Amino acid sequence: MIDATRTQRTYATVDEGDTQVTHTGQVFEKDDYRLVRFLNRPKEVNKNWAITLIDQVPPSPEKDRIVACDGGGGPLGHPKVYINLDKPGNHACGYCGLRFYKENHH
Ligand SMILES: [Zn+2]
Repeated sequence: MIDATRTQRTYATVDEGDTQVTHTGQVFEKDDYRLVRFLNRPKEVNKNWAITLIDQVPPSPEKDRIVACDGGGGPLGHPKVYINLDKPGNHACGYCGLRFYKENHH
């Protein structure tokens, strides 16, 4: 005979679900066993997402039709990429997200 009162979870659960979403979209369901790691401590999520921070950098005007971006160079940079600025508007670097646009000076 199966006792229904003994078929309980062997791990604790939190009352409320996971309320903080990380920058990768990670969020746990209310009955997810991985929430047990946040029973004694809060889930710490960095609020300064890189995509938000790089949007605060204003786009830089360029005189040339093509700009090279290496992310600042050195160990913190990225491989150099060339960005075509022929089309109007901002052009973002695919690596670091810095934006460039071509100055109009006719
Ligand atoms: Zn870049």
